[in-house]
Order: sequence, then C-alpha cells, then structure tokens
Amino acid sequence: MTKIEENIYNLKLKLPSDVRLVAVSKTKPAGDIIEAYNTGQRYFGENRVQELLNKKDLLPEDIEWHLIGHLQSNKVKYIVPFIAMIQSIDTYKLLVTVNSEALKINRIVDCLLQIHIAIEETKFGFLMSELCENLQSCDISGLKNIRICGVMGMATFTSDTNKVKKEFGYLRNCFQSLKDCYFKSETYFKEISMGMSGDYELAVQEGSTMVRIGSLIFGER
Ligand SMILES: *Cc1c(COP(=O)(O)O)cnc(C)c1O
Repeated sequence: MTKIEENIYNLKLKLPSDVRLVAVSKTKPAGDIIEAYNTGQRYFGENRVQELLNKKDLLPEDIEWHLIGHLQSNKVKYIVPFIAMIQSIDTYKLLVTVNSEALKINRIVDCLLQIHIAIEETKFGFLMSELCENLQSCDISGLKNIRICGVMGMATFTSDTNKVKKEFGYLRNCFQSLKDCYFKSETYFKEISMGMSGDYELAVQEGSTMVRIGSLIFGER
C-alpha cells in the first residue's frame, strides 16, 4: 500500500460512516489523486479554478469535484458544467451568478453557504446577520438552478481546542437556525462542512457531516 492509500484507510477507520470525506488535493499532482481514487475515494476538493481545470482533464470522470476556495464571479462559468458542489459561496451576488450560469446549461448546482466563524481571522464567508438579511430580502426560491445544501466554515488555526470547539458549535447552531427559518421543507439542506487535518475530530464531535482533509492524506504542502 502507498502512503496515501494507507492515510485514507486510517482516516476512514476513524470517521463515522455518515461523515463524508472530501480529500483536499490542492497543489498535489494528478498522480497523487489517482492513488487516493484507487482506494475508492471519489470526493475531491480544490481551491483554485485554474488548477482544478488543469487536473480534471487528466483524471477519471466519476470524480466528484468540490470547490472549497474563494470563487470569483468571472470564473463561475468554467466550473458550473461539471462541479459537484461549490462549498465556498460567500456572497449573495455569487449565488446569483452561479444560478444564471447553471440556467444557461440547464444544470442544478449544489452549493454550501460559507459562514465566517473564526471571528478573529480574516477569512471569507457571510456573517450570520448579513446572511439572514439576504435570505429575508431576496427571493432565493426564485433561483431554480442552485440547490443550497447546507453550510461550510473554517475554524481559527489555533491549538486552543476550546475555541475551535466553540466555533464549530456556532456553525452547527447557524445551520440549525437557517434550517428552521429558511430551509425547513428542503430535505437536501443537511450538510455541515467543517473539519480539516488539524481539527476534524473536534468537528465530528460537534456535528460535522463532511470533513475536508488535505495534508493528513497527501502530506504537507
Ligand atoms: C486547504 C483547505 C483544507 C484542507 O486543509 P488541511 O489542513 O490540509 O487538511 C480544507 N478546507 C479548505 C477551505 C482549505 O482551503
């Protein structure tokens, strides 16, 4: 077994069976992705559009690609034809752009709302207050070519586990309020994407449904 294969097997043993593993392959070559693929791994995450486009053509078609990094509106059209999920929707405008590009090709694109949970760090994402305002004032039910499947967040990079736990707990609460207020009848609004190599165990304890793991699988970047 290669190191990458071994890492995936070990991770899968630790993860509850209902938590999805997204293997974050950013900066890593296609060959590394194939090793992971050969263990049965099908969900892969990339954070840059151009890098994703370059690699995608070298790799099997049944890979489900997740975009996890900040997405510029002018690049949306390149990924909408094939992307399995855009996890990093951080503005209402981006949501509208994804919808209109998806409409052009008659696709429905799964999206997550990225929420800013690491209060002291400048990371992308909605503030909860701003998101609720958007959801109240804009008619998202009119956006027929996107499906909002849940939320995504990144905790502060720190060894303070209490702080990280609190941030993940906050994201879970955000998920629940959004579900209760705006997505009550949407059965597909069910994902809480949280947890990376350094904090996925805490994230799982706090209710993660999807972890995004890079360096623990592919090694340091
Ligand atoms: C890079 C990245 C990850 C994976 O990080 P690791 O610490 O290598 O597991 C997860 N989520 C996002 C949004 C990332 O950019």
